[in-house]
Amino acid sequence: MKILVLGAGVIGVTTAYFLNRSGHEVLVVDRQPGAGLETSFANGGQISASHSAPWSSPASPLLMLKWLGRRDAPLLWRLRADPQQWLWGLRFLANCLPARYTANTEHNLALGLYSRSLMRDIRLKAGIRYDERTQGILQIFRDTRLFDNVARNAEILTRLGCKELVLDRDGCFAVEPALRDTGSGIVGGVYAPDDETGDAHIFTRELARASAERGVTYAYGVNVDRVEAEDGRIARIVTDQGSFTADAYVMAFGSYSQLLLRPLKVNPRIFPTKGYSVTIPVDGRKGAPTVSITDIDHRIVYSRLGDRLRVAGTAEFAGYDTGLREDRARVILNHAQKQFPNGGDFDRPEFWTGLRPLTPDGMPVIGTTRYPNLYLNTGHGTLGWTLAAGSGQALADLIDGEIPAIDLTKFSVDRF
Ligand SMILES: Cc1cc2nc3c(=O)[nH]c(=O)nc-3n(C[C@H](O)[C@H](O)[C@H](O)COP(=O)(O)OP(=O)(O)OC[C@H]3O[C@@H](n4cnc5c(N)ncnc54)[C@H](O)[C@@H]3O)c2cc1C
Repeated sequence: MKILVLGAGVIGVTTAYFLNRSGHEVLVVDRQPGAGLETSFANGGQISASHSAPWSSPASPLLMLKWLGRRDAPLLWRLRADPQQWLWGLRFLANCLPARYTANTEHNLALGLYSRSLMRDIRLKAGIRYDERTQGILQIFRDTRLFDNVARNAEILTRLGCKELVLDRDGCFAVEPALRDTGSGIVGGVYAPDDETGDAHIFTRELARASAERGVTYAYGVNVDRVEAEDGRIARIVTDQGSFTADAYVMAFGSYSQLLLRPLKVNPRIFPTKGYSVTIPVDGRKGAPTVSITDIDHRIVYSRLGDRLRVAGTAEFAGYDTGLREDRARVILNHAQKQFPNGGDFDRPEFWTGLRPLTPDGMPVIGTTRYPNLYLNTGHGTLGWTLAAGSGQALADLIDGEIPAIDLTKFSVDRF
């Protein structure tokens, strides 16, 4: 079958890789000059099955109220007269109910564990390297109550297949000695030893290269204006360089999927959520962590990518604006410098923003649509790098008429 994948981010490229492996003719289109140049470019680097819990959690409404109006808040809700944003916000709140939160976490976790196991397979079969590390992820806490809550959940996650170890402060220092000098406020940590990290951009670029060698065609610099349907099927995509046709189409445009799908009356309820990252050259300094750290109090993550330290965080609900506000980026930089003063050259930071394609329940949208030849693989929000491999393989299985290893009905667009 000829399949057209819309988008060469980490989701589109991974999907193309698996579709090619099962024998399809695959064409990927993207407006950028290469693969992985939008949201997949400089994310937090964590492949974190242990972080499967969505942002829509029972604790979120109170936290969001607490952060309202604070310029350095990890989460900024910019007040706009956009009914879509308000409707999305209400759905987000509905998903903060404990029962929904637990179910959403479990579905993401199943997909996350499946993805993690496939990453090892991709490394071997595609023969790619991407500054990957398999040293786990350590969440650190300065608030005893929060720590106790998460520590209780660690037992549940371990029972569900995601090993988590609860550590006291010295245990955290033993896992990551770089915390020792400035970690006096830490009360404990939760360590997921099987989680991984890596550079999502290098992975996407290298997997695109490896899959192109196996026959996948990449059409870069092509801007898709619309997707056209005829007689209940997708007939073509219309671009600034003419029309393209295929037997089937996979939508993987990240946050922009929403805009292209709306005229087709397919609504994955994606809202773009801007995040920031800062990348610092380690430059031979001895104080940079090698184990990935999630700093819960400041809502930022650290990943060591080769000789760079990537620090990422913040969420801004500001529509499709990708503009970089230096004061927001510097909040992240300052936290990093305080935590790891000898971790790199803080005078040479690279700032970046990207739009997380976030759904109100924090789960991706994967599967079929009302059009028999249109499939979705989008809306991965805060977890796109973590869930990419499993999402790509499961969708390829579904298209092939196989039973996917993950129950995709939970991720269907019909849930909205
Ligand atoms: C600050 C930050 C930190 C993050 N940290 C992590 C992390 O640690 N771990 C994790 O798992 N996830 C993380 N994420 C989330 C993750 O990066 C995303 O979920 C993931 O990159 C989404 O991938 P995607 O392929 O869906 O979207 P994208 O990478 O945005 O790809 C979509 C592609 O579609 C193309 N496109 C869009 N519209 C058009 C059009 N009209 N015509 C042609 N091409 C088009 C774009 O050019 C783009 O290449 C983070 C995100 C941010 C912002």
